[in-house]
Amino acid sequence: MRRLLHGPAEPGGPIHRRAVDRALGRRLDEALARPAAQQPSWPDPVRAARVAGLLHEAEPIVAPEETARLAAQLASVARGEAFLLQGGDCAETFAGNTETHLRANLLLLAEMADVLADTAGLPVVKIARMAGQYAKPRSNTVDALGLPVYRGDIVNAPDPTPAARTPDPRRMLRAHGHALEAMDLVRKFGADDVHVSHELLLLDYERAVLWADEGGPELRVSSGLAHFLWIGERTRQLDGAHLAFAELLSNPIGLKLGPSVTPELAVEYVERLDPHRTPGRLTLVSRMGHDLVRDVLPPLVEKVAASGHEVIWQCDPMHGNTRRSGNGYKTRHFDDVLDELAGFFEVHRDLGTHPGGIHVEVTGEDVTECLGGAPGVAEADLPARYRTACDPRLNAGQSIQLAHLVADLLCGKRVEVR
Ligand code: PEP
Ligand code: MN
Repeated sequence: MRRLLHGPAEPGGPIHRRAVDRALGRRLDEALARPAAQQPSWPDPVRAARVAGLLHEAEPIVAPEETARLAAQLASVARGEAFLLQGGDCAETFAGNTETHLRANLLLLAEMADVLADTAGLPVVKIARMAGQYAKPRSNTVDALGLPVYRGDIVNAPDPTPAARTPDPRRMLRAHGHALEAMDLVRKFGADDVHVSHELLLLDYERAVLWADEGGPELRVSSGLAHFLWIGERTRQLDGAHLAFAELLSNPIGLKLGPSVTPELAVEYVERLDPHRTPGRLTLVSRMGHDLVRDVLPPLVEKVAASGHEVIWQCDPMHGNTRRSGNGYKTRHFDDVLDELAGFFEVHRDLGTHPGGIHVEVTGEDVTECLGGAPGVAEADLPARYRTACDPRLNAGQSIQLAHLVADLLCGKRVEVR
């Protein structure tokens, strides 16, 4: 595939030599001119433009053949012939981009996949939240101290000082360098069966490394930054830039759906994001919360099934179950996570649809961020090894335990919640 040189539509921006590139460039400009939620405002626009120029020359992180291979595997998930396991850190950090950490997370993902495949007898497709998960959406724009919030290492730093929190576009170049290093390790440890993903959030970064993809039913762009990208709960506005950008992508994409989504809205998303009815092109990530999933999810699944689109239904049992512990930590209880998964499987069993996969925040390290599970993390244990840069992750023991329970659910067994 040819690299798409797509710069700002101003004099001095890259020249689109081919009509195809000019057409794609126009469509990208239109998509990105829409309102975009959750973007930093770079204090120095000249510096930001210079960084954008450099990023347009940057090396791709993934290869288009790998993305095509994943798309084929996801088609089999959509048909009910495979299971999708996606997981990793909530937020990757530059400091955490070490061989030890990446290896631990890749090993955990491989172990969880083995448990699922061995017990359920289904092939498991693995996608890591890795090599680019550096941007975070936030519910507030300022923190308790009145400082701009931390938006992930690709934007600013977490230290509570005005200087650290000032968005710095040069961080996008550092993020790209870290992603390249991480991807080298993924290839080293994961052979060719692990794919990488991150949230499609920071548009100045996402627009920079694209190929013109003329191979599909429609002229689109293929991201060189990840095999799989997903749109989060906070950036799925119908008239917004993220959705319009995702429509232009030929990569398989995900969309998080929280409890406020109506069946009609779900179908609108499906029609926008899967216009050619490509099995597995779209993964709908249900993140309803354990107390709502059994009520809210069935009408969505029914209406989408009736539309005839072959999407993947994936359960994110983490983001609807976040709470604050008595001692002040953002946490999740293993039992709530498991209960949401059990509800998700029940819904699909009842409707005769395929519970296609799970999307989890996990780490291979022995952290104490989520409560419960067999290792028995209690509130008083949380401070010991609470290390996440954003949301709490299941540790290795909790994750393997969860994989066994999900395998049981996949086999149609009932699991004991609490
Ligand atoms: C996430 O996956 O880290 C995330 C922010 O999820 P959501 O958009 O579902 O809240
Ligand atoms: Mn998260």
